[in-house]
Amino acid sequence: MSAVSNVIDPVALRRFYIDGAWVAPEEPKFVPVISPVTEEPFGQLAMGGSADVDKAVHAAREAFTWWSLSLVETRFEILNRIHALILERKESLAQAISLEMGAAISFARASQVPLAAEHVRTASEVVSEYPFLSVKGGTATLREPIGVCALITPWNWPLYQITAKVASALAAGCTVVLKPSELAPLSALLFAQLVHDAGVPRGVFNLVNGSGPEVGSALAAHPSVDMISITGSNRAGVLVAQTAAPTVKRVAQELGGKSPNVMLPDADFAKAVPLGVMSAFRNVGQSCSAPTRMIVPRDRLSEVEAIASATANAIVVGDPQEERTVLGPIANEAQFNRVQTMIQVGIESGAKMLCGGLGRVEGFSRGFYARPTIFSEVTSHMRIAQEEIFGPVLCIIPYDTVEDAIAIANDTVYGLGAHVQTQNIEAGRGVAYRIRAGQVHINHPAFDPRAPFGGYKQSGNGREYGVQGVEEFLEIKAIVGHG
Ligand code: NAD
Repeated sequence: MSAVSNVIDPVALRRFYIDGAWVAPEEPKFVPVISPVTEEPFGQLAMGGSADVDKAVHAAREAFTWWSLSLVETRFEILNRIHALILERKESLAQAISLEMGAAISFARASQVPLAAEHVRTASEVVSEYPFLSVKGGTATLREPIGVCALITPWNWPLYQITAKVASALAAGCTVVLKPSELAPLSALLFAQLVHDAGVPRGVFNLVNGSGPEVGSALAAHPSVDMISITGSNRAGVLVAQTAAPTVKRVAQELGGKSPNVMLPDADFAKAVPLGVMSAFRNVGQSCSAPTRMIVPRDRLSEVEAIASATANAIVVGDPQEERTVLGPIANEAQFNRVQTMIQVGIESGAKMLCGGLGRVEGFSRGFYARPTIFSEVTSHMRIAQEEIFGPVLCIIPYDTVEDAIAIANDTVYGLGAHVQTQNIEAGRGVAYRIRAGQVHINHPAFDPRAPFGGYKQSGNGREYGVQGVEEFLEIKAIVGHG
């Protein structure tokens, strides 16, 4: 494991970034940050409280008075500098992510960091071309920054979720207070330094670490915060909305998912099944839009089972620092325990376990290494088909007709991602149009950073990324009689 001091000055963990400076918490309170590899603490993180939140919100409020009026060119240049610095510091960011949440280093380098950088590049592109003012008849429509935004992020894609929110908010002309996940704080602290070095003026970007119930809810309740955007669990998303309600602030929620992957009968199974397994297990299954329900024609079930288990059995799970590792450990103990509980629930439900199962991966006596697990003959009403597991657990659900497949795909409280596999693009579109989810992928396309992302149903409210991601942070003003 890379030592924390190789990645970040351990003192940074004890500081917040407020009003352009690294400051100590108002009251000293620290919690250990635990490595998912060793299960040992690797640093002590300062946990803020309402006094720290007040200071950060005040700085953001002051800065909003002039940052909201900044030229589009200024925001474009600053975002480009942030983007350039992410690329320049990509190795230390990748090491930080690997250390804080156990991502395989090859995956952190290839996906976690470059995709995070893409959000910044996209936001700079959007800001340079966005029609902030349009006039029709005598009426002008202005899109103006909403104000001070509190941004709450999770541990699973720690930097990526941060850049998706921060870049869009800054592009819109908002000022921000970021509260990253207390379980994976390293890349956020490196990002704060990088924002500082990119020349973001004081007060525009602020960071306070702490727990959800303390710092998160203080931000949600704060009367000087105009908008709160949270990516996290449904539990936290609901609490944030409830806490925010009395001050009528805008609430954006990016929450959980249980995304379907519909294999149409004409799909190229030899290709589509391994890709489906690998995307369900990507990031150790800790992705909100992971396609964790593979919905397959019943008469092809045994073929799918054979390909899927061969794919899973070939995955290298191990030390995230080793180049050949595909999946590292689960990011934290609570999540590891949740995955174990859900594997037990799957076994008890009578689903057919093709591979994996309870306990750690063979050869590991410590570290949160879960076994890539596939259940087949799953039915839609089983808990493993309904609840987000957030680990390397895939459910294979057989269907009889394409109508049934669509019904199964939609039989969930969630509606975040969805996938369709087919060799007939017309048929694929037909199914994609009928799935109630915010982003549908046909045949595993390349990542599109401009494609809006967000949830139908209980997966959330609002959209991130691209144009719509920036629009989240804008108010609309009409000036009638503008001429
Ligand atoms: P979590 O809800 O435990 O924590 C997310 C963030 O919310 C953390 O910063 C946490 O401190 C904060 N928080 C927790 N309770 C809070 C409260 N009462 N008030 C304010 N803030 C609070 O989630 P997690 O375990 O970090 O992340 C996993 C969850 O995130 C999964 O459900 C996953 O699907 C979801 N997620 C969604 C998306 C998306 O874009 N839709 C992306 C990634 C993760």
